[in-house]
Amino acid sequence: MTSTASRAGTAHPTTPTAPTTDPRVLVVGGGIGGLALAAGLRRNGFDVVVHDRDTDPAATGGYHITLDTPALAALRDLLGPDHYAGLLASASAVRRRPPDVWFDHRGRLLGDLDVRGLDPDSVDVDRTTLRLVLAAAAGDSLVLGSTCTAVERDPGPDGEVRARFADGSVVRADLLVGADGPGSLVVAHLTGRPASRPAGLTGVSGRTPAGDLDPDLARRLGPRSSLAVGPRGTALYCGYLDPAGFAVLDAPLGRHAVTTGPTYVWGAMLPTATAPAGLRGQRGAVLRDTVLEALRATGWGEAPLQVVTRADPSTVAAYPFVVGPASPREAAPWPAGRVTALGDAVHATPPTAGKGAGTAIVDASVLVRELLAHRAGERTLHTAVSAYEQDVRHRGSAVVQLSMGTVRRVLATATPAGSAATRVLLPVLAASTALRGRLTGGRGTSGG
Ligand SMILES: Cc1cc2nc3c(=O)[nH]c(=O)nc-3n(C[C@H](O)[C@H](O)[C@H](O)COP(=O)(O)OP(=O)(O)OC[C@H]3O[C@@H](n4cnc5c(N)ncnc54)[C@H](O)[C@@H]3O)c2cc1C
Repeated sequence: MTSTASRAGTAHPTTPTAPTTDPRVLVVGGGIGGLALAAGLRRNGFDVVVHDRDTDPAATGGYHITLDTPALAALRDLLGPDHYAGLLASASAVRRRPPDVWFDHRGRLLGDLDVRGLDPDSVDVDRTTLRLVLAAAAGDSLVLGSTCTAVERDPGPDGEVRARFADGSVVRADLLVGADGPGSLVVAHLTGRPASRPAGLTGVSGRTPAGDLDPDLARRLGPRSSLAVGPRGTALYCGYLDPAGFAVLDAPLGRHAVTTGPTYVWGAMLPTATAPAGLRGQRGAVLRDTVLEALRATGWGEAPLQVVTRADPSTVAAYPFVVGPASPREAAPWPAGRVTALGDAVHATPPTAGKGAGTAIVDASVLVRELLAHRAGERTLHTAVSAYEQDVRHRGSAVVQLSMGTVRRVLATATPAGSAATRVLLPVLAASTALRGRLTGGRGTSGG
């Protein structure tokens, strides 16, 4: 990492001169959390390098990421004013859109959706846009196309740590941070096993411009996010993203904005146990058609499926939901040392609470704060890492619990009791919402 010292030293106009006692930090994984950490350390003049196996930070999947107040505060510190303003200029303000609603699988409105844990001051941003802004802030500390194959430690608490990469290179550091997501190689090195397991649902996401929908359906969906629930453990989340119409800043769109007009960023959910074989290996139009067929087979109507039918095939991708430990005792169970981890590597979080990325970002900011306390002589490196891990155990497992609530509710419709309740309750709920709508002159419903 010798060469990164000079890179970090020129990172920011107000960069303080790093004292020689600063640890050299190696981050494995340049996704959301790893890049946030690298950006924050670089901004503060640390010697940091982040390696990711991807060759292009834009070549990433996912729909939109919700950033709540703690995540935004962390990003403001980690990114600095220019990159932070660029991010907000590409985001859509949650507060400016009407409340989320839920539908059933026939397209009948069931009412307002009580989104647990939703912070009204949150913003939504494309996952790709967020990663691009973070990569710009991480600058030349980011090494792409670099797959870590092994982690090694010399014996003793102060022993040097090393990472080996697929091209045969070896990088030495004083602190190695695994930000390599669920199934983390770094966490497997620390504990002997991965820290996550399948959550039971497989997600397929895609993007559909609102203008590509039939006007009647676009009107019914409205400029709001929704969740449609169906039988046999199926659901369809439809996030509404409009960084221009629901702008956060009075400023031109940010240069990394992927979404430039009203767009539904959707995610279909299917129980992994009954999802069509081979779904994970498919992409594009083939994957889109497989999902449509699977949802139709469980009784979904054509109207709610139109967002999927009309999606841009190049945006359609599948990914499994994985989940980490839901109790602080099981999270980051290794003794503090010179190898640690953050984000999904510690607390893999299904996207159902919209908190996974935000939590990884807050992890990064807590670790930067602790390393600054170490620099100030308030903590040894060991106690700084230990304080960070203590914090991440509690915050991370709480978010895992929150996100699994929705996963369990969706999967419950696949049980015999849940399936019977869905059959009986959804039409009743839809009818009562329609009646309320007629009496109050408010939103109505129509079948799909
Ligand atoms: C494809 C995808 C789509 C998602 N979509 C959404 C969404 O729409 N909404 C939502 O709320 N959450 C979504 N999530 C989850 C959310 O993005 C994560 O919770 C959040 O990104 C966690 O950040 P992280 O840095 O811990 O992990 P990640 O952002 O997943 O980053 C991990 C990084 O490590 C790299 N990596 C892994 N192994 C190695 C290795 N051996 N060597 C080098 N690099 C390695 C990977 O390439 C990846 O870039 C998605 C996750 C993925 C993977």
